[in-house]
Amino acid sequence: GVGDFLDLEKLSVLGRGNHGIVYKVRHRQTSATYALKIIKQDTNEGYVSHEAEILNCTDSPFVVKCHGVFEPRAGEKAILMECMDAGTLDGIFRANGPFSEASLAHIAYQVLNGLKYLHEHNIVHLDIKPSNLLVSKDMKVKIADFGVSKFVRGIVSRAATNYHNMCEGTHAYMSPERLDSHTFGSGCVYAGDVWSLGVTLLELHVGHFPFFPAGKKPSNWMELVLVVCFGESPSFPKEASEKFRSFIKCCLEKEPSKRWTVSQLLSHPYVCLGEKLGK
Ligand code: ATP
Ligand code: MG
Repeated sequence: GVGDFLDLEKLSVLGRGNHGIVYKVRHRQTSATYALKIIKQDTNEGYVSHEAEILNCTDSPFVVKCHGVFEPRAGEKAILMECMDAGTLDGIFRANGPFSEASLAHIAYQVLNGLKYLHEHNIVHLDIKPSNLLVSKDMKVKIADFGVSKFVRGIVSRAATNYHNMCEGTHAYMSPERLDSHTFGSGCVYAGDVWSLGVTLLELHVGHFPFFPAGKKPSNWMELVLVVCFGESPSFPKEASEKFRSFIKCCLEKEPSKRWTVSQLLSHPYVCLGEKLGK
């Protein structure tokens, strides 16, 4: 195994985020490459990441694999992960343009399987978006970046108290119940991940944040809340198939208790299409 942090040689920077840097590294003895994420626990900001703890106990082909956690310096954590060579769905979109319905069905199938695993293990991701979905050399899609993820502990009625800080994460992908904290805590914490997946897939298809017309972005928080919580559902391109429309509508149901769960979505006809593609 890769037991020693000092045996790792930095090769390049794979990405930067709000709380850390991700390097491509090589293990000197085996010359295998990995991704190494260094997180600064910024305690004066009140930011505490459960990422290492969560990644350490997950084991799914649809979740990025963790090979070890180190503490290179006090207040710093380093997470050694499998290197996802094809980058993020966001990066692939920037390079190649919008994804077809068929390739998104295959992506949906994989991300839903990752979410199924997480939700069954009481983990809510809370930051599903194109830049947190990684792609391997053989084009497998896996969920990454557990920087704001949480273990769902306790029973439904305690959800509200446990999740007072649910506004962490990326606002554009947040469900109505997370944006509008008055309606939050009704026990459907997992439904937020399904919403974010719906926004993600539709955005990768139409090429822009789907609640606004192309070229326009919400200019402030209020505008985002109004359009996501109270505005009309996003429209589809004319040529969009019925299966695709129906699937996205099931993800983007504003009322969290009516939104489809991950298990329900896995048997949606659109996703069954994506499952076949993987074979
Ligand atoms: P943000 O706050 O922007 O969401 P973050 O600090 O939480 O980011 P990550 O999303 O985990 O960090 O990683 C930042 C970027 O580094 C990713 O978007 C991706 O480009 C790259 N990256 C992360 N993990 C890997 C990996 N295992 N293999 C390849 N690239 C990776
Ligand atoms: Mg990220």
